Amino acid sequence: MELLIVCALIGLIPAAIAYKKGRSFFGWWLYGTLLFVVAIVHSLVMADVKALQGIQVQEGARKKCPECAELVQADAKMCRYCNVRFEKDQDRKAKSPITEHYVNPRFQSNNNAP
Ligand SMILES: [Zn+2]
Repeated sequence: MELLIVCALIGLIPAAIAYKKGRSFFGWWLYGTLLFVVAIVHSLVMADVKALQGIQVQEGARKKCPECAELVQADAKMCRYCNVRFEKDQDRKAKSPITEHYVNPRFQSNNNAP
């Protein structure tokens, strides 16, 4: 019984480290309780989820939903978490500059024709 309590308590260590890196506290507490030696090493070497998401936003691979603040794919037309549809302005980043700014010269010259 004492062994279980000790395992449950030392399981808090990898859980706290993993939680700080954006992972589930309860899942990592369970992992740390059952396999402490593996979980503590794993929690120390794994990447920080929040830092990775920040890099993805900077690189333009993801965007933040204006309603729920969850990160979704940059090309997404609808949020997968709250089902909000994104406005055209928010999708512009994903489109290539050629399709955004391309104006057919034939139509442009027709406007100025007498
Ligand atoms: Zn959302």
